Amino acid sequence: MATTILLTGATGYIGSHTWLALHDAGFAVVGVDDFSNSSPQVLERLRRIGGFSPVFERADIGDAAALDALLGRHRVDAAVHFAAFKAVGESTARPLAYYRNNVGGLVAVCEALRRHGTARFVFSSSATVYGDPRQLPIAEDAPLSATNPYGQTKLIGEALLADLGRADPLWQTACLRYFNPVGAHESGLIGEDPRGTPNNLMPYVAQVAIGRRPCLEVFGNDYPTPDGTGVRDYIHVVDLAEGHVAALRGLLDTAGSLTVNLGTGRGTSVLELVRAYAAASGREIPLRMVGRRPGDVAACWADPSRAAMRLGWRARLDLDRMCQDSWRWQSLNPKGFDA
Ligand code: NAD
Repeated sequence: MATTILLTGATGYIGSHTWLALHDAGFAVVGVDDFSNSSPQVLERLRRIGGFSPVFERADIGDAAALDALLGRHRVDAAVHFAAFKAVGESTARPLAYYRNNVGGLVAVCEALRRHGTARFVFSSSATVYGDPRQLPIAEDAPLSATNPYGQTKLIGEALLADLGRADPLWQTACLRYFNPVGAHESGLIGEDPRGTPNNLMPYVAQVAIGRRPCLEVFGNDYPTPDGTGVRDYIHVVDLAEGHVAALRGLLDTAGSLTVNLGTGRGTSVLELVRAYAAASGREIPLRMVGRRPGDVAACWADPSRAAMRLGWRARLDLDRMCQDSWRWQSLNPKGFDA
């Protein structure tokens, strides 16, 4: 019988790509989502791409009774927990909602798994836990800090899972610190579909390229970076999805827990990304320099060597491919899933 994975936040951006990667790797998946930041259309798209019928339940992961019922119906061997809120700015305005969903939700999922005899767990963490990095590239043992409630929820999540492992050795957990996921599945049928104004650079650039927004505002061109704009480690979402497959294999095959960066190890500036996107889309990307955004760091890229060593995983897809796949998704779905 196939190893079965519970995927929370399964119809979200990273969840949907990971669902396909798990399916391709021979895992059975039970998806759960409350559609608070995703569309039911994703399920139909997964069916079209993968040629399978997604096993899915709509539920709020904070609802213990709903989780118990779900885990009663589906025996699972491990969980990948994506479900969370992720907008940094919103987290500052609505901290209680963020702590309830990101921390309370994590507690509820771990408790329910334990009641049903499962203790293998992959957690979506973020490079945001490194705060303003003192050294580049960033290795996993770099100092940790948070500058906003969203980042705090990820730090608390990691600490909670470490405590859980110390209290009960049956728990095996993987904290995956994502750098900047971008791009889309090569079919162009699933991708990032932000509600309202995109918080991240590539979806914003994509909406400028398609004509939904007039111009990109570049926050700061006086950073101590080669062209003055912020530098990030963009990683193709399909590579990121493969990282989850590798982490699960690691947890299922060997005892112990781990924390790893999932990034490419390469920094790209805002202007480099805009040039690559203009080339991929054949569109002009008008831009305007504005002041720095509070809380943004100058540069951030991963040391990805631990993931290579411990999981045998490396990012494969380059910036041009990230832009080409994002553009295919954006041009086939100019208004996202529910247009
Ligand atoms: P997303 O918003 O597209 O996906 C999250 C999914 O979780 C959504 O489908 C949403 O409807 C669902 N969800 C939220 N709260 C829920 C609840 N209480 N019950 C059930 N479902 C719920 O976000 P994403 O980009 O796919 O991110 C997935 C995870 O990765 C999150 O934990 C996020 O913090 C983390 N992460 C994302 C990024 C990024 O840039 N995208 C970077 C680092 C870490």
